[in-house]
Amino acid sequence: MELEQKLQTVKARIAAAALRAGRDPEEIVLCAATKVQTDDTIRAAIAAGVEVCGENRVQELCAHLENDAYAGAKQVHFIGHLQTNKVNKVVGRVELIHSVDSLHLLEAIEKQAQKLGIVQDILLQVNIGSEQSKGGVEPEELEAIARTVVQMDHVRLRGLMAIPPVAHELGANTHYFVKMRQLFIDIKAKVDHNESDMNCLSMGMSGDYEDAIAQGATLIRVGTALFGPRPAPQA
Ligand SMILES: *Cc1c(COP(=O)(O)O)cnc(C)c1O
Repeated sequence: MELEQKLQTVKARIAAAALRAGRDPEEIVLCAATKVQTDDTIRAAIAAGVEVCGENRVQELCAHLENDAYAGAKQVHFIGHLQTNKVNKVVGRVELIHSVDSLHLLEAIEKQAQKLGIVQDILLQVNIGSEQSKGGVEPEELEAIARTVVQMDHVRLRGLMAIPPVAHELGANTHYFVKMRQLFIDIKAKVDHNESDMNCLSMGMSGDYEDAIAQGATLIRVGTALFGPRPAPQA
């Protein structure tokens, strides 16, 4: 089975990268980026041993939930850009939202979580490459927004996430990952009063997850290396 082999390869590379960095491979969670995949591919991935699925688009998340495609997975995460008017389709339906990138969105999540009587785990997405096209909180704004989150009753800040520019060669994104590690340490020291809460650093994709692990990633989001290349988005 091709998917099974790819998963074993990725897992072996995660473990090797962790050991090279003097880390316990168990610390690193593989989140399979399942965008554009079918229900059956997701089921096959879970049967092969994928434990966490990360969904990028609200519409796909809802369809897969409806069809019970994630049955058997330990967790489902939301990793894509989330519009404020769609929070009610995501809050309470996923274990972790990686991509919170504004105060406005944060307030909408808090409101919906309060309505449901739950606490929603989130990460703050940081615009580490300061790219105009990419979402994320600017590093300079991070502390203020993090302080706001920890005051909220129905949102729990679990850590940070970043999507650096696409890496075209090994090591190309290491400087971004180093910056993220430092930001993570700083923010934790400043706002995390309960040390066990903020323990997620989501960074690293198919092209650079080993470099991300070397710099402390605890969650990596991998699509292509598991499922093969995606078709180009439709215009
Ligand atoms: C698609 C996606 C990934 C995975 O990208 P690959 O390069 O295919 O591994 C990771 N994170 C996010 C937010 C994504 O949308």
